[in-house]
Amino acid sequence: MLKGKVPGFILWILFFSLSGCSNQRLYKDTEVLMGTFVEVISAQKEAAGIVFTEIRRVENLLSKYKPESEISRLNRLGELKVSPDTYYVLKKSKEFFEASAGAFDISVGPLVDIWGFTDKEYSLPKEQEVKLALSLVGSDKIIFNEENNVVKFTIPGMKLDLGAIAKGFALDCAVKRLRQNQVKSCLINAGGQVCALGDKLGVPWEIVIQNPRGRDFSGTLKLKDSSVATSGDYQQYFVRDGRRYAHILDPRTGRPAQSGVISVTVIAKDGLTADALATAMFVLGKEKGAALLKQFPEAEARIIEEKDVQSRQ
Ligand code: AMP
Ligand code: MG
Repeated sequence: MLKGKVPGFILWILFFSLSGCSNQRLYKDTEVLMGTFVEVISAQKEAAGIVFTEIRRVENLLSKYKPESEISRLNRLGELKVSPDTYYVLKKSKEFFEASAGAFDISVGPLVDIWGFTDKEYSLPKEQEVKLALSLVGSDKIIFNEENNVVKFTIPGMKLDLGAIAKGFALDCAVKRLRQNQVKSCLINAGGQVCALGDKLGVPWEIVIQNPRGRDFSGTLKLKDSSVATSGDYQQYFVRDGRRYAHILDPRTGRPAQSGVISVTVIAKDGLTADALATAMFVLGKEKGAALLKQFPEAEARIIEEKDVQSRQ
């Protein structure tokens, strides 16, 4: 269900006093992985090491910034036999591409490059550059061979970018590994992508959502065995002539999405679904995004539109 408008974006973990819950202490560890701070909180000291190792493993498969990752090699070669994990994420990405009528599209790599979001050298591309990049975009041009896990592009020059789904998947893998290691309770926050395993010493984990146009925050979420992802236009953007250009691109126009939505927070059972849905809904806008969400009955979302923020200022 779509639940109204809650101001907010980045998810901040609240360290509420533990008094009244338990005398047990919580360990907190942080490491930079997948281009963001990954924070792990758990009563079990070994949790952080397990999480970091697993996220690093997934990053080494899926990151376009790692030259030897499977995604980088696929991008270079146009065809590759990939591991079951990579194959799974690519297939899931294609499902979200179809469910969102192309709004979610991991083949946006060439567009991400020309707008400067890959190397953070932002620029406004010329019309012709957008056209050329757009001709290389379209997940319908990715072919899957179920028998041997070979993935292939139908046209040369295509480039995948899993920035909208990889973190969600990585956190799912980390949670699976924690369970295998008898860790019952843990909160992972990877730059706005949050996974809660179990609860926090008997009470739900609590996170708050920050105002996308301010430093304050409002709205809290209580989590237990669930995942949250936020997509917003504040996380990576540049401004030219007073106009904001953000990192989530509309594959239909080749330009930063302009749906009126500035932040979408999705709560789902798994991180991959939350991550992909948040990005897709950001591109689709409020009404079409809500229609997409209906296909995922266990997920819910909180959307903020630019006009909500303006009316409060
Ligand atoms: P997220 O923060 O999860 O919404 O992911 C945003 C990132 O996904 C961007 O920084 C790009 O790397 C990539 N991306 C941009 N636009 C799209 C899109 N329409 N579909 C899929 N991935 C995208
Ligand atoms: Mg996403």
